[in-house]
Amino acid sequence: MKLNLLKTVVLVVAGLITLIAIVQFGTQASAQLPRNTPAPAPSAIPSVISPADSTQVNPLNSPLNSGNLNAEVPFGCAIQPNPNPTGRTEIRPRPSQVPLSRFRQISPKADLQSALQTSAYTPREVVELADPTNFGERFMKDLNGQVVEHQPIIVIHETVGSARSAINYFQTPHPLDADQVSYHSLVGLDGTIYYLVPPDKRAFGAGNSVFLGTAGTEAVKTHPNFPPSVNNFAYHISLETPADGDNNNTSHSGYTNAQYQSLAWLAAKTAVPNDRITFHKTVDRSGSRMDPRSFNSDTFFRVLETFPKTREIVIGCSLPLENNPPVSR
Ligand SMILES: [Zn+2]
Repeated sequence: MKLNLLKTVVLVVAGLITLIAIVQFGTQASAQLPRNTPAPAPSAIPSVISPADSTQVNPLNSPLNSGNLNAEVPFGCAIQPNPNPTGRTEIRPRPSQVPLSRFRQISPKADLQSALQTSAYTPREVVELADPTNFGERFMKDLNGQVVEHQPIIVIHETVGSARSAINYFQTPHPLDADQVSYHSLVGLDGTIYYLVPPDKRAFGAGNSVFLGTAGTEAVKTHPNFPPSVNNFAYHISLETPADGDNNNTSHSGYTNAQYQSLAWLAAKTAVPNDRITFHKTVDRSGSRMDPRSFNSDTFFRVLETFPKTREIVIGCSLPLENNPPVSR
C-alpha cells in the first residue's frame, strides 16, 4: 500500500515538473502612444501556450477561419506570466497573410441581426497585424498564480500622430520591454478600422493602469518589475487624432462622425457593457495620459445604441460563433 502511495506521489511530482518544464511564459504589458516617451512597458514574447484543450472551441474547425493563420498566431491564452522575464522578446517574422476572421468572426446570427438594424453602417476594414514583439498573451493566472477572471473592458485612446505612423511603429519589431506598445484596433479619420492585434491576445495599451468597476478596482500584475495593468482583460481601440492635435495641447478639433460611427460599430461587436467602456486617461495611474482628448462621450454612447451588441469580437480565450450567439440588447 505504502509503496503504491509512494509511486503515485512520485508520478504526480514528475508530472508537475514536466508540466512546468513544458510551460513557457509570456509576460506583461505596456502602454501608450508610440510617439510619446515610452512608459515602462513590460512585455515579452508570446511564448504561446495556446490552451487548445477540450474546454476550447477548436478554431481550426471553424468554417470562417480560412488559411493557416492559427499556426502563426495561435488562438488562446497562456497560463501564467514568466516570473523571470529577460526583458527582450524574440523577433520572429510577422505573418503576411492574416484573414479578417482572426480579428472578427462573422456569425450568421449577427449578420441577420445587423441587417435588421435601420442604421446599416459598414466601415472599411483593413488587417494590419502588429509585429509579434508588440503584443503578448492574455494570462489565465497572474504573476502569483492566482486565477484572474476579469470581465473584458474597452479602453479608448487616440494616436496623437497619424494612423499610418502608429501602424508603422506597431509593425516594427521592438524586442525591449520599454518600447513595446500596441492597440487591438485603430479607427482612422475616414472611419476605416485597422485590426492590429487579435482580440484574444494582450495588446500593450495601458502600462500602469487600474479599472474601477462596480465591484472595486481591477488590474492584473503580470510582470515582476512593472505595476499591475488592465491589459490582461482590455480591448484597446485608438482613434486617429486630427492634424491639429499633433501636439501636447489639452484639446483639439475632435473626431469625425465616421470615427464615432466606426468606433461604436466596433465596440458593439465586443458585447462589452457600456459601464465597462472607459478611456486611457481614466485607467491610467502614471499621471501622464490625457487621451482621448476632445472626445464626445454623449455622441459616442448615442451612436453605440444604434448598433446591436454581438460577440463577433471575443476578448478572451474562447471563440464566438454558434457557441456564443449574439446577445440581445
Ligand atoms: Zn492611450
